[in-house]
Amino acid sequence: MRVLVLSDIHANLPALEAVLADAGTWDALWFLGDLVGYGPDPVTCIDRIQALAAVALAGNHDWGVLGRIPLQTFNAAARWVLEWTRNQLPASLWAYLERLPPQAEAEGFTLVHGSPRAPIWEYILDPYTAWENFAAMSARVGLFGHTHVAIAYHIPRPEEARLLIVEPVYNEPLSLQEGRWLLNPGSVGQPRDGDPRAAYAILDLETMTWTFRRVPYPVRETQERMRRLGFPPFLIERLAYGE
Ligand code: ZN
Repeated sequence: MRVLVLSDIHANLPALEAVLADAGTWDALWFLGDLVGYGPDPVTCIDRIQALAAVALAGNHDWGVLGRIPLQTFNAAARWVLEWTRNQLPASLWAYLERLPPQAEAEGFTLVHGSPRAPIWEYILDPYTAWENFAAMSARVGLFGHTHVAIAYHIPRPEEARLLIVEPVYNEPLSLQEGRWLLNPGSVGQPRDGDPRAAYAILDLETMTWTFRRVPYPVRETQERMRRLGFPPFLIERLAYGE
């Protein structure tokens, strides 16, 4: 079974389309949250994921649109887009967002948006936070998003207090056979590692491998849509730099 793992699409349709075209064939799509926010195409992106995803989670921006998180907790630019997004969604898509859980189990993997111990909120940005979250997770392998940076944290031997940070090597399958893993595919719609290309991953359950992938997409197309809609300039510009 070949699983396409996506996170943080953020209503960026050209990025999502580039990923779907690049991914080849897959048997299941797992989405780790943040369908909306930041980007100009919430309706089409929700439609696509509703049609394609076997598992889909809610992220903090999805909850922000729904009003489950106060908008004051977001910065001004993000808040502007969340308010704009609220006015775009038909009732059926609103209801779909409401049904998305903050975490899920699939094929023995734990799936969260932020972290196993705080699925909506916590950012796993350092080995210490990763270590604490391994302790909070019963599955051997967990998948997370939220930081918009592709990364793997690895405990080679659970009986030893040693944790490795594994930087992505794109297109090279990483074996998950040994030890424990926390894996982040990076962000489809708003990468923040200095590389503007859309990020995603392929999880192969037969070979038990994880492959980080990157694909360029027409950034200018997304930026043009945002400009026409009067989006905050900071959000338009950052897409070009992947920051
Ligand atoms: Zn996000």
